[in-house]
Amino acid sequence: MAFKGINETEESYVGGRLLSPQEIKDDGEAEKSLRPRYLNEYIGQKKVKENLEVFIDAARARGEALDHVLLYGPPGLGKTTLAGIIASEMNVNIRITSGPAIERPGDLAALLTNLNENDLIFIDEIHRLSRSVEEVLYPAMEDYSLDIIIGKGPSARSIRIDLPKFTLVGATTRAGQVSPPLRDRFGVVMRLELYTPEELKSIVMRSADILGINCTESGAYGIASRSRGTPRIANRMLKRVRDFAQVIGNGVIDEEITARALKRLEVDELGLDNIDRKMLMMIIKNYGGGPVGLETLAAAIGEEAVTLEDVYEPYLMQIGFLSRTPRGRCVTPAACAHLGVAMPQNNANSAGNVQIKQLSLDENQ
Ligand code: ADP
Repeated sequence: MAFKGINETEESYVGGRLLSPQEIKDDGEAEKSLRPRYLNEYIGQKKVKENLEVFIDAARARGEALDHVLLYGPPGLGKTTLAGIIASEMNVNIRITSGPAIERPGDLAALLTNLNENDLIFIDEIHRLSRSVEEVLYPAMEDYSLDIIIGKGPSARSIRIDLPKFTLVGATTRAGQVSPPLRDRFGVVMRLELYTPEELKSIVMRSADILGINCTESGAYGIASRSRGTPRIANRMLKRVRDFAQVIGNGVIDEEITARALKRLEVDELGLDNIDRKMLMMIIKNYGGGPVGLETLAAAIGEEAVTLEDVYEPYLMQIGFLSRTPRGRCVTPAACAHLGVAMPQNNANSAGNVQIKQLSLDENQ
């Protein structure tokens, strides 16, 4: 079956959720070919790019490794891409790994001792490194040396191994969970922001060009404006809309095909899908518009709290549909207007006393 029917749930979407900012199996090789390799191909993130350019130029001129860089921000915004770009611009090798993959200090030691001078090591999800691995990392980052304990008990002894100078690029979606001693050892800390629709449009046009897809500017804008500020989603959507253009259109992605395709995929004109709508409707219907605690909300809609926090909330907050207060999450009048429901009279202090006009979760799915 080429396309999912209108009654199927988003979860059954081939290979994973269309709007997931995390990498899914379906992205595969194509994502690699779409990754910009040099800074001048990297669209948006102006501040980050300008600063990095200075740091890279300076390190190159001195013939030294670049200082360690910590990149943080929601998934799919280009952290891995940026690490690859730094390596290309510095003309060094890159080794890619992730926090959970480095289980023991020995794993880290093996990685670091195999680097060449000035090489770059990229650790994704760096907040998930274990404490014992982090402790080995500190002297490695600071003095380019490893302190290894050999043996156990009274015969144990510590030896110091010198490492080549290297650059560590760490990436995380949760800067708050990177331990302070680790964070302090990064010379450069940069936050990636969600992209504007205009920037995403340029990314879609670039990707269409690479993939040989015929896409008009308004078609690209239609995809961009539904991509939740995230290049990974924009690229994935481009490929799905291409399928529709091929089968129900004339192969060209224009505004009309984009709108029709994304309607079929149950993505609305702001890029919200069923789960976003379910979450917003749940707050409106069951919690009087909020505030409601994250854990409660997650349990109510059957998602993990971290998924809500990392994946759904950043975009809903950016478009002003959700606000975070010390007492929990609240929907905004703009969200209610978009969903076509009345803003509840917020009686949040008297739980259960919720005034809502006949709302049903099914109504907006
Ligand atoms: P992250 O590591 O933050 O999850 P990635 O670096 O893997 O995200 O980026 C996901 C995809 O989005 C990449 O394959 C790349 O094609 C695209 N992408 C990300 N940022 C940009 C950008 N600034 N310009 C063009 N494409 C981008």
